[in-house]
Amino acid sequence: MFDKVLIANRGEIALRIHRACREMGIKTVAVHSTADADAMHVRLADESVCIGPAPASQSYLNRAAVLSAATITGADAIHPGYGFLSENADFAEMVEDHGFTWIGPSPAHIRMMGDKVTAKKAALDSGLPCVPGSAGAVESAEEAKRVAEETGYPVLIKASAGGGGRGMKVARDPSELLEAWSTARTEAKSAFGNPEVYMEKYLGNPRHIEIQVLGDNHGTVVHLGERDCSLQRKHQKVLEEAPSPALNDEQRKAIGKVAVDAMTRLGYRNAGTIEFLYENGEFFFIEMNTRLQVEHPVTEAVTGIDLVREQIRIAAGAPLGYTQDDIFFTGHAIECRINAEDPETFAPNPGKIQGYHAPGGLGVRVDSGLYAGLSIPPHYDSMIAKLIVQGNNRTECLMRLKRALGEYVVDGVKTTIPLHQRLMEVQDFQNGAYDIRWLEKFVAGEV
Ligand code: ADP
Repeated sequence: MFDKVLIANRGEIALRIHRACREMGIKTVAVHSTADADAMHVRLADESVCIGPAPASQSYLNRAAVLSAATITGADAIHPGYGFLSENADFAEMVEDHGFTWIGPSPAHIRMMGDKVTAKKAALDSGLPCVPGSAGAVESAEEAKRVAEETGYPVLIKASAGGGGRGMKVARDPSELLEAWSTARTEAKSAFGNPEVYMEKYLGNPRHIEIQVLGDNHGTVVHLGERDCSLQRKHQKVLEEAPSPALNDEQRKAIGKVAVDAMTRLGYRNAGTIEFLYENGEFFFIEMNTRLQVEHPVTEAVTGIDLVREQIRIAAGAPLGYTQDDIFFTGHAIECRINAEDPETFAPNPGKIQGYHAPGGLGVRVDSGLYAGLSIPPHYDSMIAKLIVQGNNRTECLMRLKRALGEYVVDGVKTTIPLHQRLMEVQDFQNGAYDIRWLEKFVAGEV
């Protein structure tokens, strides 16, 4: 087992990784920008290294600075968390070339899944059902037209290098196609430095359902069930739950097996998430995330498996030590992402936390680095906390979540807690009757 792990991230996920390491008897190294010198993970880690100024490009994304910090502290392994360098195959390779262990999948799998065109091809080849669309990149306007006619309108034009819900354009009919195709290319070029786009059938009212997988270095792959992440705003997840209110046990088993078979064929190792859209009883692969996800705690709550601990064990070469038959799902879990934003306009609202009280009690978990007196820097993502609540069933979970949201006090900045509280009161949410479009309508006052 590792003696010392460097955590190449910040905020709640850096703390989350630190906690897993501590429980495993592994020393931790926090790296931070000047803006995060007072962050909780920096305070709790065994050692910390300042790797640069506030802008992420000069600190958390500065590969040489992260590797230097690992070298001077004598770390054995690097955990990248999510975001920042976590899906950067070149960085994963550099980490290995410098003699550190990368706590994540192989650089080849990161690269394969990081480009959505190669990801879709790999998914199809390994037996995952995909959204109908172009066979690969769409290079010309004529080809876009031909694909749209074959697939049928509406179509979605997506950036091969896309991520974070950006770089997508819908064409509802032939009159919108050429403009959508060329704007998508221009936007992809400016946002991701790569104009390549591909096309998919635009699904009307799907749910977003993803499967968590774990693979070890010895050929064992298991799935840990699904998460329903359909509550989204601007293609960004707001609340996630497990199990999905839309699936029964049989469907869960079936899609889980499809996922495990595909990952076994690919030789995938470590943690990963296969994202699907689910409509009319059918699953369609959209992408795979080769890292730990923000919403991983809901899976931990219903399986009792510590995903970060498993990532570290796998990276150290340990066998999983269990099979699919040993995995049981109990109860229901929901995660609310709490952002430092105006709950009505969603304008970011960084600033100093004047008062802080986190909820507690049975079945309540808060993953957050917040404390009274901390200044939330404006340079990073606005998510400041995750509230994860578990119950024996969905109804109990909802009652508990409502109770916990009511206890949560964050003074000094505006947060999205009131949005979650409003959600709890709505019949559609209570009934689990929502798709990926529902939350936008709710926020606009249309449902
Ligand atoms: P990103 O990597 O930018 O998050 P994804 O491919 O994962 O992109 O898609 C993000 C979200 O966009 C999905 O959760 C879904 O809400 C929407 N989306 C993606 N593909 C389609 C599609 N073919 N039809 C309808 N909505 C889609």
